[in-house]
Amino acid sequence: MKQNQALVVGTLIAVALIAVVVVLLNRPAEQAETAAPATSEHVPTDGQPTLGEADAPVSVVEFGDYKCPSCKQWGETIYPQLKADYIDTGDASFSYINVLFHGQESILASLASESVYKQDPDAFWDFHKALYGAQPASQQHDEAWVTVERLKQIAGETTSVDMAKFEDDLSENSSVLEQVSLDDGFVKEYGVQFTPSIMINGVMLEDPFDYEAIERLIEQGAP
Ligand code: CA
Repeated sequence: MKQNQALVVGTLIAVALIAVVVVLLNRPAEQAETAAPATSEHVPTDGQPTLGEADAPVSVVEFGDYKCPSCKQWGETIYPQLKADYIDTGDASFSYINVLFHGQESILASLASESVYKQDPDAFWDFHKALYGAQPASQQHDEAWVTVERLKQIAGETTSVDMAKFEDDLSENSSVLEQVSLDDGFVKEYGVQFTPSIMINGVMLEDPFDYEAIERLIEQGAP
């Protein structure tokens, strides 16, 4: 019985949260429709979690969704190589922008990551990695796994966020809705069709797993 009540309350909160986010996300739609996809222009990375030298000559941006199995795979295969070859060397910076292609769980995970970035930015990449690490094996990824409890557990293990503020940020009182809305606006403005989408100095990769194309684009952009 108690479990049922908790489920009902949880569902009501989720419905309220989706309503708030839908209202927020629909706001910039008018601008998004009139603006042509700016494929030759690089997405602004101010205020986005960014690894490496902020003034590196090349900017790599991942449009990712914590619910997306290919994003987890990209993070475990391509990203470590990219980091070693170009980010750690100062040639490229790496920024992450949230995509909400999987509904409520994508929204919750994005709110959590923005809350961590706001409260404890140095812990962002540890949280980010642990959240992808918590994603179940790809054949089960559609099952619900992004819950408030799970997010609190991961944040508790990887960050020093204030847990009450963190939980507030996962509700309709969230202080980071604007950040998630900003990311969603970029997804629409830059015509992101799939995740992960990788943009390098304004060029969107056709195949995010094509490391030779990544190398080529970075080396073109490096002085
Ligand atoms: Ca963001």
